[in-house]
Amino acid sequence: MRLSLDSKHTKIVATIGPASRDPDVLRAMIRAGMNVARINFSHGDHKTHGETIDDIRRLAAEEDTVVAVLCDIQGPKIRIGEVRAEPMMLEIGDRITLTLEEIVGGNGIVSLPHPEFLRDIEAGATLLLDDGNLQFSVHETDGSNLVCEVVVGGPLKSRKGVSAPNARLTLSAITDKDREDIEFALAKDCDYMAMSFVRSAADIRELQGLMRQIGRRAAVIAKIEMGEALENIEEIISVCDGIMVARGDLGIETPAEEVPFHQKRIIKLCNVAAKPVITATQMLESMTENPRPTRAEASDVYNAILDGTDAIMLSAESASGAYPVRAVEVMSEIANIAEQNIAYQNAAPAEDEDSGELSADISAAISKATTAISQALSPAAIVTTTMTGNTTRRVAKERPGTPILCMTPNTKTQRRMALVWGVTSLQVQEFTTIDEMISIIVRTAHEKRLVERGDRLVIIAGVPFGIDAQTNLVKIHTVGEEGEI
Ligand code: PEP
Repeated sequence: MRLSLDSKHTKIVATIGPASRDPDVLRAMIRAGMNVARINFSHGDHKTHGETIDDIRRLAAEEDTVVAVLCDIQGPKIRIGEVRAEPMMLEIGDRITLTLEEIVGGNGIVSLPHPEFLRDIEAGATLLLDDGNLQFSVHETDGSNLVCEVVVGGPLKSRKGVSAPNARLTLSAITDKDREDIEFALAKDCDYMAMSFVRSAADIRELQGLMRQIGRRAAVIAKIEMGEALENIEEIISVCDGIMVARGDLGIETPAEEVPFHQKRIIKLCNVAAKPVITATQMLESMTENPRPTRAEASDVYNAILDGTDAIMLSAESASGAYPVRAVEVMSEIANIAEQNIAYQNAAPAEDEDSGELSADISAAISKATTAISQALSPAAIVTTTMTGNTTRRVAKERPGTPILCMTPNTKTQRRMALVWGVTSLQVQEFTTIDEMISIIVRTAHEKRLVERGDRLVIIAGVPFGIDAQTNLVKIHTVGEEGEI
């Protein structure tokens, strides 16, 4: 068993692409500390993604570890059509028309084949193209053509993305392509599904409803990358299973200078709600080409951990960069250094003033008490037994200095815990009595060489077993005291 209760608390999500889908590279990334593999449905085809998911599952089993699969669904990304003579050079003050007509662009006109988007844009709107490198101001619109003036010029190439930072868009959250990708990802039993361009809780509910219709479920990660999502953040956090601070598009939809503020606020809200949060994009960007990160990138990763993020993410660095394994190693090294220097026992998020209800909740009280007991007794591990993972997330929320060992009969829960801060998860057989539970968890942890005779454990559970009961039991147990091993 490679899992060790001393391994890093912060989880690493790595995007898999041409640079990393080779099984030897995947294995090296798992060994370097990758906990979650992200499959980006903005690129690639189902056959390749399917093979990659199969390889990840097989390699994780061979390495006797847990790697969750996160399928990232493209969402309603708006792109211009083809441009004839690339790049089309645009100067400040130039006039350019974006049209619904499917034409090859040139001579001041470019195709924008998105009727719902064109319908929503009003005169006076600002459009950003190519990750914000070009800016247009809309002068006139008839619903099918946007006549624009170039405010920030530069080269424009085919298929570049378009965003309208302050517009209220009525685009459907799930496109036809997304529907096919969602069905495919569910058929491959993905653990997490990331939804792009989420605006409100209703978008998340639409995806959850679609999954119900399909008859399979994955945990939903809401990607926060739109201004509207920031306005609705509390409600979004309450309905989803986790959040991604998608700093790439967020830094286009809102000023890049504001991204650190939004990152810190979103992480704090997720910590309070006990929902896992991923900090994403450009964390080690220069490592797409270089074997060493810049000092600013090392600081960015360290600071996200200090902010309280559950997970840090690699995008191009691992998907198409020259050093995918090294990038995971660098993240692991920074995480280890950060974690040695953070006083975790004191790092639990402050509750909102009006959340007295939460303190009155038995499960929440037990999670807090567990941390206090661990501080007093310094056990080898806090063991959470759970069907849904809720007990485990509540304990992780308290950021105890003690390792958290999640024991669950549910394979999906075991894999989902790969994203949650500080959790090592193991699958165990079902149990019906407290004695049986203790015997099974101690034997399993001992077999995996995670605990030794004489180690003290703080075990918490919800009784009766097998249902989504609230956490209501704490047992302090010394390994071997009841002859379990
Ligand atoms: C982002 O915009 O930061 C992000 C993670 O989304 P994507 O890479 O899918 O555009």
